Amino acid sequence: MATIYYDDDAHLAHLDGATIAVIGYGSQGHAHALNAKESGMNVVVGLRPESASWAQAEAAGLRVMSVAEAAAAGDLVMVLLPDEVQGRVYREEIAPHLEPGNALMFAHGFNVVFHQVVPPDGVDVVMVAPKGPGHIVRRVYTEGGGVPCLLAVHQDATGTAHQRGLAYAKAIGGTRGGVLATTFQEETETDLFGEQAVLCGGVTELMQAGFETLVEAGYQPEVAYFECVHEMKLIVDLIYEGGFERMRYSVSNTAEYGDYVSGPRVIGPQVKAEMRGVLRDIQTGAFAREFLLENQVGQPRLKAQRAATSATQVAEVGARLRKMMPFISGKPK
Ligand code: NAD
Ligand code: MG
Repeated sequence: MATIYYDDDAHLAHLDGATIAVIGYGSQGHAHALNAKESGMNVVVGLRPESASWAQAEAAGLRVMSVAEAAAAGDLVMVLLPDEVQGRVYREEIAPHLEPGNALMFAHGFNVVFHQVVPPDGVDVVMVAPKGPGHIVRRVYTEGGGVPCLLAVHQDATGTAHQRGLAYAKAIGGTRGGVLATTFQEETETDLFGEQAVLCGGVTELMQAGFETLVEAGYQPEVAYFECVHEMKLIVDLIYEGGFERMRYSVSNTAEYGDYVSGPRVIGPQVKAEMRGVLRDIQTGAFAREFLLENQVGQPRLKAQRAATSATQVAEVGARLRKMMPFISGKPK
């Protein structure tokens, strides 16, 4: 059984007198900075001077400074930049300002595991990775809850890395939901695998294939969209709340029977074989290399793919239908 830490296991006293520098104010950055501040922590935010987020962070009552100044001010330096820029910004603007006893922190192990960030001896290297999008990390905290987090220690220079990481997780609300101990490697490899094979890549391709199958068979695209895309959330909500059992309890017996009969046919052994291949490419660093090189040459594949995706029929139909449901699309992020 995995060890899971809750509020009573974590003590904010480990951060008494410490300054937390949150580098970046995007999805995760704004959530960590605001949650930690409201938990009574001393927080500064590090940004590029030209960043549009600068005024936003200041308007939220945070102290904002350059990345280098924040790295110098922070006893804990949480790096919440896009993964593809962390290596360069770390080397140029953060590393020169790390002092022995500081904690260098991440919300994803990518750059440490794939050697883009090579921390010096003498600093703790800790990961607190919320298992949810940043805007949810913020929203759930303001509602009194917390998004579960993963906690890992890559380097324990002070002997307090684990306790400080746990305290940080408490400050952002993570111990309200549960904090699971892991390693940088396990977090990174499972996170990349999950988003590629299941959560982002797997789910969208599954929906797209279902939509196309129905449309190619002559059914109305609007019906296909509701069936194969829109309804996904309603089904997933039931799984989120009560597992596969609650979903299968709630759908009709017809749907449950069809689930057992056709699910394994669609997601057959060839899918798992491909999943193992995807996992291997992650473990060997082949995916990381490809992604880092893609970013060094101006993201040609990302940009081409975004353009191609927005030109598909499922995108056009979806945009049209969602416009008629402002109760969904009008929701603030
Ligand atoms: P993001 O793209 O939403 O935000 C990045 C921030 O960095 C922005 O404020 C941006 O202005 C700033 N920035 C970009 N380039 C910069 C530079 N050169 N110098 C200074 N600031 C710069 O990023 P994110 O999605 O919050 O991801 C941050 C980290 O959190 C990543 O390691 C990611 O893997 C991890 N993570 C993200 C999520 C999520 O919900 N998005 C979930 C778990 C973990
Ligand atoms: Mg992720």
